[in-house]
Amino acid sequence: MPEKATQTDVLIIGASASGLMCAIEAGKRGRKIIVLDHANKAGKKILMSGGGRCNFTNLTINAENFISHNPHFCKSALSRYTQWDFINMVEKYQVPYHERDLGKLFCLNRAKDILNMLLSECEKSRVEIRLRSEITTIEHAEDSTYIVNTSQGSFQATSLVIASGGLSIPKMCASPLGYKVAEQFGHHIWPTTAGLVPFTLQPDDKEKFKKLSGIAVYSLVSNERIEFKENILFTHRGLSGPAILQISSYWQPGEAININLLPDTDIEDFLKTRQSTQPKITLKKVLGELLPKQLLITFVGQETVEQDLQSLSHKSFSEIARKLQQWQIRPNGTEGYRTAEVTLGGVDCDELSSKTMESSKVTGLYFIGEVVDVSGWLGGYNFQWAWSSGWCAGQVV
Ligand SMILES: Cc1cc2nc3c(=O)[nH]c(=O)nc-3n(C[C@H](O)[C@H](O)[C@H](O)COP(=O)(O)OP(=O)(O)OC[C@H]3O[C@@H](n4cnc5c(N)ncnc54)[C@H](O)[C@@H]3O)c2cc1C
Repeated sequence: MPEKATQTDVLIIGASASGLMCAIEAGKRGRKIIVLDHANKAGKKILMSGGGRCNFTNLTINAENFISHNPHFCKSALSRYTQWDFINMVEKYQVPYHERDLGKLFCLNRAKDILNMLLSECEKSRVEIRLRSEITTIEHAEDSTYIVNTSQGSFQATSLVIASGGLSIPKMCASPLGYKVAEQFGHHIWPTTAGLVPFTLQPDDKEKFKKLSGIAVYSLVSNERIEFKENILFTHRGLSGPAILQISSYWQPGEAININLLPDTDIEDFLKTRQSTQPKITLKKVLGELLPKQLLITFVGQETVEQDLQSLSHKSFSEIARKLQQWQIRPNGTEGYRTAEVTLGGVDCDELSSKTMESSKVTGLYFIGEVVDVSGWLGGYNFQWAWSSGWCAGQVV
């Protein structure tokens, strides 16, 4: 005879950012919660986030910082549980943090501080976390409860929350489970792709730029739809750095991107002025004040950079400006889910309540966090979406 399923009020699949937040909130309401996860540790992505320092939110959060087929969907959750609410919790736990550029808030010490804070709150809410639980099947019983069968037995609850994240970094236990569950219950899924991901280059470009590996340059990166002004980073595989990761979420295969390597300088004016004051200085020396020399050689050419300013015409200044400020490159592709920070696409928001994250197809089923078709920019936005959507579901499950 099959063993009797363990009874609980709420089952949450995914013990990371959104799932733990939902568990904490629902636990506060006195609900009995079991969180299931196939990983051997809770919150693996929190631990690896922000280079180990977790960029847990941003001082400015707007719907414009998110990508979704329904750009209005995220507004309700983000306004009900804001960055200030999360910052309050961080301060209550005296987690040291600081602001980096563009309002990004990071832990001063380690990402583990954020995870420990969430786990302490879970403990207070008497949340039970069952790790190493492989989900085999999910059934919707006749009495409308959900039965989740796992390697650790069966669990039964009136509410089922899918907080299993996206596809990025399979090594960190990412899996398509959430999309499969959504499909099982008749949901539409927007096609998924890797977002916030480095670009790989065409073989010729890869060869040309390999000498620049490790160089970071503050740049304006754009396509026809959007622009970002942050660093780009040349790597041995291609292009990375915050501005590249940002534009990758707006990139279509085959499309070129524009890069201005000196976005805040009028190069022609700068060179003309220096030509009149220091005619004998070399181009390499004068532009070397603004950009790394190896980069100048690659973009402007060894012969030209060795010339002194008096031997260069104004026409050649505009040619140099064009090479540095209107660089157009057509990436070969992206590094894909192996290194992506986020998954674009996912469970169609039009079939979820923006207030509660409940499915409009089946009562008692909820989707929160990255599995939903809401993806944030780089800068703490993805965690804020996880906290906000998790919090909203936590009020009602
Ligand atoms: C390298 C990296 C750095 C990042 N840094 C930042 C940052 O600094 N700031 C920021 O805002 N965002 C950052 N992100 C994005 C952020 O980590 C995610 O958007 C966020 O963790 C999503 O939360 P989630 O709860 O939806 O999913 P996840 O955090 O991915 O959690 C999903 C959970 O579900 C579990 N799970 C998956 N499949 C199954 C299954 N089949 N059975 C059982 N359990 C399952 C997983 O083990 C995991 O614990 C980063 C992402 C990466 C990859």
